[in-house]
Formats: sequence, C-alpha cells, structure tokens
Amino acid sequence: MTDVRESMYLVSEFAKDYFNSTLLNSEEGKAIGLSYFKERGFTNETIKKFSLGYSPETWDALTKEALGKGYKLEFLESTGLTIAREDRPFDRFKGRVMFPIESMSGRVLGFGGRILTNDKKAAKYLNSPESDIYHKSKVLYGIFQAKQSIAKLNNCYLVEGYTDVIQFNQAGIENVVASSGTALTPDQIRLINRLTRNITVLFDGDAAGLRASVRGIDLILEEGMNVRVCAFPDGEDPDSFARKTSYEDLVAYLEENSKDFIQFKASLLMKEAKNDPIKKADLIRDMVVSISKIPDRIQREIYTQECARIMDISEQVLVSTLAQLIQKDL
Ligand code: ATP
Ligand code: MN
Ligand code: MN
Ligand code: MN
Repeated sequence: MTDVRESMYLVSEFAKDYFNSTLLNSEEGKAIGLSYFKERGFTNETIKKFSLGYSPETWDALTKEALGKGYKLEFLESTGLTIAREDRPFDRFKGRVMFPIESMSGRVLGFGGRILTNDKKAAKYLNSPESDIYHKSKVLYGIFQAKQSIAKLNNCYLVEGYTDVIQFNQAGIENVVASSGTALTPDQIRLINRLTRNITVLFDGDAAGLRASVRGIDLILEEGMNVRVCAFPDGEDPDSFARKTSYEDLVAYLEENSKDFIQFKASLLMKEAKNDPIKKADLIRDMVVSISKIPDRIQREIYTQECARIMDISEQVLVSTLAQLIQKDL
C-alpha cells in the first residue's frame, strides 16, 4: 500500500463521516436529505448500515472542513471530492444525498450523489471520478454488506442501482450488489465469483434493464458461473417492487420468477417472436451464442439439449452451429 493511496482512503473516510453527520445533525441535512430518505422509506438503521449522507448546497463546505482538520488539498483533489480551481477550490458534490461506495473490506473508494428532484433533464447521479483508489469497473456497490450473506446462501442477486441494494437489505435480503449503472464487467463478476458461483440478475423492468440483463448473461457464463434471471413487472425496479411487497411475498416472487438463463431467453421469444420464424431463428442463434460462452463441455451439452427441447428444434443443428461458434473463438 502506497502512502498516496492510504491518504486517499483516509480523506474518503473523513468525507463519508462528514456527509453522514451533515445528514443527521445539520438543519439543511435534516430538512432536505433526511426527509428525502424518509420519503423513500429508508429507516435510521438503513442509513447507518450504508453510511448514507448529505452534501450541503455550499461552495466548499467539505473542502474547508477537511483542510481545517489537516487533510491535504492534494488528496481531496485526487479523490475527486474537491475540484481544483486556483483561487478557490470547490466541492464536487453539492446539495445531493450521498451513497459511499465501499470495497469488499469496507474501505471507502468513492461516492455516488443523487439530486433530490426527479428532474428528467438533470443527471440523476453524479459519481466520483476514476482515481488510484476508485475504478468503477472493479467495484460493486454493497459488496461489503453483502459478502457474508452471499457466501452463506451461495447466491448473489445483481441489481442496477444503489437504492435497489438498500431497499432489499431493508426488506431482509442481504445477498445483493449493484453494478451501479455501468455495464457489467468481468472484474465485477470475478469479485462475486470469490464468494459464490451463482448469480441471479434482477434488472429493472424496462427496455434498458432487459438489454443489460441479456448482455450480463453472456459475461457471467463466460466466467464459468451459473446465471439465473428474474424479471420485474413493467416500470418496476427491485427498489420500487420491494417497497410495496412484504418479505414473504418478495421471497416468493424471486423464487417463482427466477429462471435459468435458457428459460429466460426462451420466454423472451414467447413475447417477441411468437409467430415470426425469422425472429425465432435469430433468438435461437442468440441462445446458442450464450451456450458457446460456457467453458465446461458437459454443461454446454446439457444446455444444448435443453435448448433443442424448449425451442422444438433438432439438437443436430444446434450442435453444428455451436461447433462453428466455438471454432471461431479458438
Ligand atoms: P432512483 O431509484 O434513485 O431513481 P435508480 O437506481 O432506480 O435510482 P436507474 O435510473 O435505474 O436509477 O439507474 C441505475 C443506476 O445507474 C443508479 O443507481 C446509478 O448507480 C446509475 N446511474 C443512473 N443515472 C446515472 C447518471 N446520470 N450518471 C451516473 N450514474 C447513473
Ligand atoms: Mn434503470
Ligand atoms: Mn432503477
Ligand atoms: Mn429506482
């Protein structure tokens, strides 16, 4: 561990505490940030568990406070908490509710900050920039809180957003992490792979969520892991769904609607291409591409059989298509 990175961790930890105490103790934080979280149904316990915070609307509140405590401007800048400006450096996060992003071992790497309105034109979330300690393609939001539960239950729910992770935790489901809006990466999948070989993808019930799930499937298969997918009703995400569902009903929903990837892709077919042979052919090809990603030969064979059965097509043609795809990869 270099001193530079250690200093960056320390100032990030300080910022986490600063945002959290601003949320809980300042008039502005309570009136704006805390009431926002309460409206979303977050309890005090949840706010504590995820060290949620609030960044005040001022020019340089955090920067000033940190400098006063002896933290160096250099590290405030390299973590992206402060934006350099020769005469007057200023805070990156202003007037936002804050979600600290932690490593597997609980160190603060960066932040996501959400605006308090639902203004469709403004960027909803602002994130820390890439830095020596924050590589967004290598972190999963919630992994620190989730790791024990993932190992114990031998499954990991993968969601899109901060609030999905938080609402699930509050509902009593802890084995959940978020890719936080970035397209899922192999590094993120490998992080989960240290804890379990089973991932259930729970993306938002909209077109973007569906696309992201489909992309995620192949990447997860490529890492030799098992992937299931659970779709949410149109317009719902795991957060909004969990909020209006009891724990028992949520668990039941997840159990009943989690499908093996091949079943999931088949159900897309039922919806999208029922009577269209060309679309059906495309979807079958697409399923074979997914199967070709599976490193284990026996598993590939089993899925090929399964695919042939549910799509009502000869196994022979699937096997030869598969052989071509695997050949291309070599
Ligand atoms: P909320 O419930 O607070 O509206 P969400 O998590 O449902 O948020 P989505 O629009 O579904 O938001 O996006 C999923 C995730 O993608 C977010 O949690 C966030 O991590 C990331 N994200 C969304 N919008 C942006 C943005 N404008 N810039 C950076 N990241 C974003
Ligand atoms: Mn979404
Ligand atoms: Mn969402
Ligand atoms: Mn949401």
